[in-house]
Amino acid sequence: MKRPISKLLAASFFCLSSQLCGAQKYFLHCGNLIDVKSGQVMSQMTVVINGNTIESVEKGYKNAGGKDQLIDLKDKTVMPGFIDLHVHIESETSPKKYEEQFRLNDADVAFRSTVYAKRTLMAGFTTVRDLGGTGVNIAMRKAIDAGYIDGPRIYTAGKAIATTGGHADPTNGVKKQLMGDPGPKEGVVNGPEDAKKAVRQRYKNGADLIKITATGGVLSVAKDGQGPQFTKEELAAIVETAADYGMITAAHAHGAEGMKRAVMAGITTIEHGTLMTTEVMDLMIAKGTYLVPTISAGKYVADKAKIPGYYPDVIVPKALQIGPQIQQTFQKAFQKGVKIAFGTDAGVFPHGENAKEFGYMVEAGMSPMEAIQAATITNAQVLKATDKIGALDKGLRADIVAADDNPIKNIKTLEQITFVMKDGKVYKHLAGNKK
Ligand SMILES: [Zn+2]
Repeated sequence: MKRPISKLLAASFFCLSSQLCGAQKYFLHCGNLIDVKSGQVMSQMTVVINGNTIESVEKGYKNAGGKDQLIDLKDKTVMPGFIDLHVHIESETSPKKYEEQFRLNDADVAFRSTVYAKRTLMAGFTTVRDLGGTGVNIAMRKAIDAGYIDGPRIYTAGKAIATTGGHADPTNGVKKQLMGDPGPKEGVVNGPEDAKKAVRQRYKNGADLIKITATGGVLSVAKDGQGPQFTKEELAAIVETAADYGMITAAHAHGAEGMKRAVMAGITTIEHGTLMTTEVMDLMIAKGTYLVPTISAGKYVADKAKIPGYYPDVIVPKALQIGPQIQQTFQKAFQKGVKIAFGTDAGVFPHGENAKEFGYMVEAGMSPMEAIQAATITNAQVLKATDKIGALDKGLRADIVAADDNPIKNIKTLEQITFVMKDGKVYKHLAGNKK
């Protein structure tokens, strides 16, 4: 494939955004444009970008003025930038991961994360929700917003909240002398008062939202992968306190009982949802809770668990049991009418491969348009950010991506995004392969 740096990229090298370069606007000529609100594919459209904002979306190819820049996407399908509601931008899967957590300092983690963030953006994901790291993710959000590094806009949980020995207890599996007693400051709670304190500490640290590990999990160095790990009182304290600070809440959950308690408490999203029962599905429909499937992660861990030594021994049986079930649970929940958002758990598999999830969702019965809507407008609703992202509409941020094929006919084309604009700045523009 030819990869010419277009004149536009050269221009954007000097002008970080058109705002800095006077009244110059971008005119995007879009062969196809996906209107995620109506679920229609429109042909021959022009999107006008002024600064970091979409000024208009018009029918036909409109001429750019003298100062303005024309971007020719006539041989592409143009969509809103994708949103992934479940990533871990600070880390990436590797057999070395478990011993590295004892050697790497925050700065080591931070340098590596810049690579993951850039890969994510270049794959067409202009926004991510980070569901747990050490807190480097908060610094990264600030660095990206300030333009120091290239990456998606980030909504982050900072460090996830667990109970002692729970899925996000950072001292699981280490020798007793190193275990200590992490406490609410480090996101380990026991009782409603601790739970409130942990939420308030996340807010103080600069987190945008709250993530809890409502049940055991696959990749923690602990035996149980699915049992409930919070009491109802702890869950109520978390959800209520988060609401006081305008924060949404996400619950990692594989087993049905922990999931049920989290949904009853009013959690915003259930992550994975692996062993979800019909009862939980009905409850989620009644409460308006979203499922974030992360099929990609399930498939990846089940695959890697077959390689001797890739994961610590205690993880292998959990990965083999839980991993392969996520896609079929997603299928049942979707068919039953549970609200589906889009999230992958990137970091559990290599960052930048997030778009494989589209194919897995379609394989399980979602239409390509529904999968794209999940990753755009639905996810913007979850983040309470529909005034900013999730659609190609006047007044929204210019987060725009394009693929060479029409994804409604070929969903795999989303794994090869050839144009990426975020906040009105062009990060990627590869020539089409059709002409
Ligand atoms: Zn995760």
